[in-house]
Amino acid sequence: MSQKFDVIVVGAGPGGYVAAIRAAQLGLNTACVEKWVDDKGAAVLGGTCLNVGCIPSKALLESTHQFHKAQHADVHGIQVGGEVTMDVKAMVARKNKIVGNLTGGIGGLFKANGVTLLQGMGKLLANKQVEVTAADGTATVYDAENVILASGSVPVNIPPAPLTDGLILDNAGALDIDEVPERLGVIGAGVIGLEMGSVWARLGTKVTVLEAMDSFLAAADKDVARDAAKLFKKQGLDIQLGARVTGTEIVDGKEVKVFFTDAKGEQEITVDKLIVAVGRKPQTNGLLSEDSGVKLDERGFIFVDEQCRTDAPGVYAIGDSVRGPMLAHKASEEGIMVADIIAGHKAQMNYDVIPSIIYTHPELAWVGKTEQELKADGVKIKVGKFPFAASGRAMAADDTDGFVKIIADEETDRILGVHMVGGIASELIAQAAIAMEFCSSAEDLQLTVFAHPTVSEAVHEAALAVDGHAIHIANRKKR
Ligand code: FAD
Ligand code: AMP
Repeated sequence: MSQKFDVIVVGAGPGGYVAAIRAAQLGLNTACVEKWVDDKGAAVLGGTCLNVGCIPSKALLESTHQFHKAQHADVHGIQVGGEVTMDVKAMVARKNKIVGNLTGGIGGLFKANGVTLLQGMGKLLANKQVEVTAADGTATVYDAENVILASGSVPVNIPPAPLTDGLILDNAGALDIDEVPERLGVIGAGVIGLEMGSVWARLGTKVTVLEAMDSFLAAADKDVARDAAKLFKKQGLDIQLGARVTGTEIVDGKEVKVFFTDAKGEQEITVDKLIVAVGRKPQTNGLLSEDSGVKLDERGFIFVDEQCRTDAPGVYAIGDSVRGPMLAHKASEEGIMVADIIAGHKAQMNYDVIPSIIYTHPELAWVGKTEQELKADGVKIKVGKFPFAASGRAMAADDTDGFVKIIADEETDRILGVHMVGGIASELIAQAAIAMEFCSSAEDLQLTVFAHPTVSEAVHEAALAVDGHAIHIANRKKR
């Protein structure tokens, strides 16, 4: 008889490992299947996020931001003495160490919580059985009361730019570049393209971002997109819109010609490295047997309802492989919701309040609806905006780019969206998410006491500005 678990989770990314830990905490006998192994054959835990996504990209962004600050330390009167230089190999080694610490930590958390790690490729069979095929080809079938599929996503590759070792790279390759390229091309001005472009622009690389769409950051609030475009241009990022890449050619094995079309016709640039950042797609290859009962939607995502139930009873799916934003925190929260449901608790997730962040400098962050979405829906709104240029603490930090924008319902005053560009927008946006989760009105934020001097005061002032009452900018509304 095959071994049986209360819960088998397939995939140990931020969706899967969090779901497994929560399920085990709730007293369920839980196993987590992971196919990723390192060159020594050990399981690699943490998925895209910890290994080749969120964490390593943020490590490189932080290192290069510190480099930039050191180069400009003279604004504080600090004389560094001599040229500030970057040891790129040391930067990448630091990134790898952080990744190692975190991924190793998950193994420890599994042990501490009693989660059984099953190394190998997981495949869902009929009747909630999961077949796990180890690296040596041995297949074992396990039974489960419940299965959580958390297989994540993989980068989209485009035929005009096939990956080429060391020259044309996806996100994994991009995170391991270990010397400063003179010229870098990036296909796609999305989150990953902008973050990777920023890393290298700060180190002196000439970065060209080619984006097929005519508008920049179409999903963001128009004020965020406009401000960000101006700031990135000032930073030397050459973002070309309406530029569709049609082909590439490797020249002498050391540089890449990139062909694209734009409003002016056929164009080409030559770069030393090219990063393909045109999006990600759900990873479901080999995950489902024909009779598993789980269905995919028309875009290849595992079809689920609001509570992540698939079409097969007792089988759930979460994270990047299902509808919704491809974000680590969305994956983790879905994992927690599903584990709670399996344990018999009532649980649901608020998909209307999921923060999005782009970790450039300044950072771009938002939660809720954009002004253009609300206007298109015919919602009557009032908007308050406060620039960091008017924040004493931001001035002290020499970090005055950007603003906080709060959109509230004109009739009910309920906060419907918060959008920011700013040095620590990734931290400030949590305040907005908490407010929105608690269904706050703009007045609730107006009546909250914020400590002075803090960058957070910009959130308070933006809430006051919704009614024309911000103190530190001229914003009186006509009565
Ligand atoms: P994944 O992290 O992709 O994990 C899935 C796991 O399942 C993998 O380990 C895979 O090996 C395993 N697996 C798949 N199929 C099987 C199978 N059949 N059997 C066994 N194992 C299997 N998100 C943010 O929120 N913030 C960020 O700052 C951010 N930065 C990013 C930067 C980059 C460069 C990239 C690429 C992504 C970034 N993301 C970010 C997105 C984030 O990484 C994903 O949203 C998140 O990892 C999704 O989690 P997941 O658990 O659904 O899938
Ligand atoms: P994201 O999905 O946020 O990572 O963004 C990916 C971006 O890549 C989108 O804005 C796409 O418009 C863009 N893109 C996709 N294909 C191409 C292409 N062939 N040339 C240029 N940009 C592209």
